[in-house]
Amino acid sequence: MAVKQKILLVEDDDALAEVLAEQLALHDEFDLTRVDSAADALARAGDGFDLILLDVGLPDQDGRETCKIMRKNNIATPIIMLTGAASEADTVLGLDTGANDYVTKPFRFGILLARMRAQLRSHEQAETAELEIGTYIFRPALKILEPQDGAAKIRLTEKETNILKFLHRASGSPVARDTLLHEVWGYNAQVSTHTLETHIYRLRRKIEADPSDATLLLTLEGGYALAQ
Ligand code: CA
Repeated sequence: MAVKQKILLVEDDDALAEVLAEQLALHDEFDLTRVDSAADALARAGDGFDLILLDVGLPDQDGRETCKIMRKNNIATPIIMLTGAASEADTVLGLDTGANDYVTKPFRFGILLARMRAQLRSHEQAETAELEIGTYIFRPALKILEPQDGAAKIRLTEKETNILKFLHRASGSPVARDTLLHEVWGYNAQVSTHTLETHIYRLRRKIEADPSDATLLLTLEGGYALAQ
């Protein structure tokens, strides 16, 4: 039998938690652990779960704050927020909580299941992805670039990794500074394009043979692009 996906359910509503546990039990692929507070969620978040379902309305903390803290603690597990109202839903992804997705209560179980499977699938793909950038193999999940000639691996910061991921997705088309800034730092981040330029400068020093004459991470009219 396939390995079960470990799910952490953070929900203080006993009735809802019971229904979800029953429904998930019908699908052999899940192994559910439930906690009912932010404190317990934070204590357990690092225990190797494949997915976290996180209620916004927790007794001891706003779940959006809990989500932020998990990301600060380097928990990379996909997180789906369970929100109580459309107004909460609006702020889940917008406020840079680090959540991957949300469903608004009351939701149909099928909707949640589809979102869970989508997150599990894309996370799995991201973990094993190997992309080619110039003469490097780029492993986003490990935040490294491996020169194909066997030279030392280059370690990247989180932001550098995300910049390369986004530029790679654009397949050589230039990405505007504002777009890149928003994609990497979030829409509400108080950062200027100067911050982005600083990161690009440092990144070039890591990956370009001659950082002052970039051949890989190009400045084009309209923004930045990866050479094809
Ligand atoms: Ca609740």
